[in-house]
Amino acid sequence: MRVISSPRKMNKILLEEKMAGKSIGLVPTLGYLHKGHIALIKRARKINDIVAVSIFLNPKQFSAKAFRKYPKAPKQDLNICKAEGVDYVFMPNAGSMYPESFDSSVEVPQLIGKLNGNSIRWHYRAVLTVVAKLFNIIQPNRAYFGKKDPHQLALIKRMVLDLNFPIKIISVPTKRAKDGLALSSRNSLLTPEEREAALVIPKVIKAAEIKVKGGSTDRKAITKTMTKMIDGVSSVKLDFVAVVDADSLDADRFGDDTLIYVSVFVGGKKLTDNRVVNSSRQSRNK
Ligand code: AMP
Repeated sequence: MRVISSPRKMNKILLEEKMAGKSIGLVPTLGYLHKGHIALIKRARKINDIVAVSIFLNPKQFSAKAFRKYPKAPKQDLNICKAEGVDYVFMPNAGSMYPESFDSSVEVPQLIGKLNGNSIRWHYRAVLTVVAKLFNIIQPNRAYFGKKDPHQLALIKRMVLDLNFPIKIISVPTKRAKDGLALSSRNSLLTPEEREAALVIPKVIKAAEIKVKGGSTDRKAITKTMTKMIDGVSSVKLDFVAVVDADSLDADRFGDDTLIYVSVFVGGKKLTDNRVVNSSRQSRNK
């Protein structure tokens, strides 16, 4: 396994691998790897000749405080990558990704404001921009993303289509702990009490899932119930909940799949989870 920090060097090495006829799978991460990330790496390892993992805590997609608090464990991350048979770890520093003259960004203006309105438009712009940079540096044949972040996934798929990146986007199911909480690097920051309180997330999703599966199309009523459940746990602060069409992220569209999404703050730590429910039977009835 080779660890490379220079974007230019990474680009050169992987272009040579491609010229030699090898396929490349990329797993982009922010680091502090867990079993969710490992699931992505394992998927990539199955069919690509070369697996590259990027570990870059992108400062542009965080507030200064969230960036400082984000857990970091580069040595442990490298051990995990090695154990999973990763070929290259790309670990650039912020200065090499964003030299002083840096001035570009990628925007998907319609879709970026969906799900939770415009409040974190800047965050998704920063995510898209860094993913576009990673795609250009690594030039993978396939890139792996978690279904845990459905908004991010939808935006990246749109960007890849619109900007003709010759890359197949592969989405991987969410890994959860035994108690139902979705694995997240931020879970390590929770106290035992906060973790217990966070278990309202899978409960809220389950309650919404039962309603959607039961044929309810009153999404306002469902989100109201979800909000009430979250408000009932004093240490959990609602960010937002959504029940929307999974493809368009529109609340007033009824396609085959419905996305149930929960975002909350527990002790100031943002936790999200979601479920996609097949609702084609219900849409046919409409
Ligand atoms: P992050 O380092 O949190 O940006 O995550 C890197 C990639 O791993 C993203 O594509 C995430 O959607 C994915 N991911 C994060 N948590 C999980 C999980 N619990 N299960 C599956 N994929 C995940």
